[in-house]
Amino acid sequence: METLDELPAMLTRLRLTAIRDRLDSLLDEAARRELNLREALYFLCRSEIERKDQRRIEMGLKIAKFPYVRTLEGFDTQAQPSIDPGQLRELATGRWIANGDALLLLGPPGVGKTHLAVALGREAIVRGYSVLFTTAVALMTSLSQAHAAGRLEERLTHYSKPKLLIVDELGYLPLDSQAAHLFFQLVSRRYERGSLLITSNRAVSEWGEVFGDAVVATAILDRLLHHSQVLTIRGDSYRLREKRRSGLLRPLAAPGDQPGDNPQSTTLS
Ligand code: ADP
Ligand code: MG
Repeated sequence: METLDELPAMLTRLRLTAIRDRLDSLLDEAARRELNLREALYFLCRSEIERKDQRRIEMGLKIAKFPYVRTLEGFDTQAQPSIDPGQLRELATGRWIANGDALLLLGPPGVGKTHLAVALGREAIVRGYSVLFTTAVALMTSLSQAHAAGRLEERLTHYSKPKLLIVDELGYLPLDSQAAHLFFQLVSRRYERGSLLITSNRAVSEWGEVFGDAVVATAILDRLLHHSQVLTIRGDSYRLREKRRSGLLRPLAAPGDQPGDNPQSTTLS
């Protein structure tokens, strides 16, 4: 046998860096637990795989460019009775992404659309899918600029690569007709290849206005809704609810109204 001193170099060459970095403590633990050779090998491989998975997830989260860290566990389903926890668990499995389905999260501001988009994006990364998060405004600006610079093809490819593309806040600003056409090109490009998750404060029936062109809106919706799930979230803004709780917001009582839960009846104090 060659010298055992070569072991770290061999592990490096095999890219088993987690085993290499903790070799002594892993072997000590295997001995302490009286593992046989097969069990010890399993234990070492497990350590390596755990570290590689962790690195992959960290890298995936970085590439995805989420605006903030949110998880499904951190989503309070009690506070949001319009969402079925079973449907969330099903979405977390990523089957819809494997199928290339679209997911629309619709609802008024503050009800948790972006939170859920980020949390589902995170679940997708854990399950090995590539994810990219962008806002509708950033996406349209980027596509328009690329179009003007004669590099639309390149940009469309960029946004078509991730298995899941999350487009947040569609509909907060109306799109001009060029932006609507560019978005249509992106949706066509991704159609049946990768999933789109879109959040919007506007109902699907209002998308004609959002895109400023009923024909383009219909063409976009035709592709989006073909294989899709639509989750409509109702209720009060969670943000305002927290503020109300902490006393930052006081209810604006209209004559004869019970002060309380109607979001329209509150104001910043
Ligand atoms: P929007 O629907 O406008 O995208 P967000 O997802 O940004 O709303 O939610 C606003 C804030 O409230 C975020 O910080 C989010 O984490 C939090 N939030 C919203 N709904 C819930 C919920 N059901 N459980 C926990 N946090 C929530
Ligand atoms: Mg949002």
